[in-house]
Amino acid sequence: MRIHKVHQLHIERLARSTKPFNARGANVDRCKFCQVRKDYCICEYQPESTSKAAFLLIMFDTEVLKPSNTGKLIADVIPETHAYLWSRTEPNSEMLALLQDESYQPFVIFPEEQIENKTLVTNDINLEEGKTPLFILLDGSWREAGRMYRKSTYLHQLPVLSFNREHLSSYIMRKASKDHQLATAEVASLVLDLFGEKDNARHLECWFELFREHYLYSKRPVKSTERGMGLERLIEFRTELKGSNQI
Ligand SMILES: [Zn+2]
Repeated sequence: MRIHKVHQLHIERLARSTKPFNARGANVDRCKFCQVRKDYCICEYQPESTSKAAFLLIMFDTEVLKPSNTGKLIADVIPETHAYLWSRTEPNSEMLALLQDESYQPFVIFPEEQIENKTLVTNDINLEEGKTPLFILLDGSWREAGRMYRKSTYLHQLPVLSFNREHLSSYIMRKASKDHQLATAEVASLVLDLFGEKDNARHLECWFELFREHYLYSKRPVKSTERGMGLERLIEFRTELKGSNQI
């Protein structure tokens, strides 16, 4: 399997911890990469995909330590995923250099309602020729993400990509999700869909579903015969994808 930036960040952050992170379920024996209980590890199914997009995850300090974090799933699907810890006072210099890099065109993914300067808001991805889109996600709870945006002046000049209600509600309806709050990986899936990488969007969605399902088994173990549809769907999707790529 491919070790990516979010894995590395998790390992680095753990090494710096002076005391153990007492998240709920901290006593579960987890795979250190997918963070699912070892018996249900999904790493062998990690996607092998390619993309013309790059992502930048700016992660709230404790978010990277949470086993339930879904930012890592984006890095599993999109090879060029950068990840840095957010700091209010000392933003990472490598991250700032990335934001200045002319070969990228950055977009902050953030809800329109929370942006005061509406001229920054766009619902489309209009790329300048030759540039790679850099989709920036603030990975934390909604409150943390709001704070991260407000306190990060280096983000305030960048265009903000927001989803219009229609797009969002059709996604939520399709998923029949009980809570209407999307996980970071689901937001990234919407971004990929809008960018036109439908296969990657779908792949990330299937990958997220598998993770969510296996993550739940970490809380309440089940026999293999009673496991859900996540893996079956992922394999089915990949078979379809292979077929369509061969035509
Ligand atoms: Zn694993």
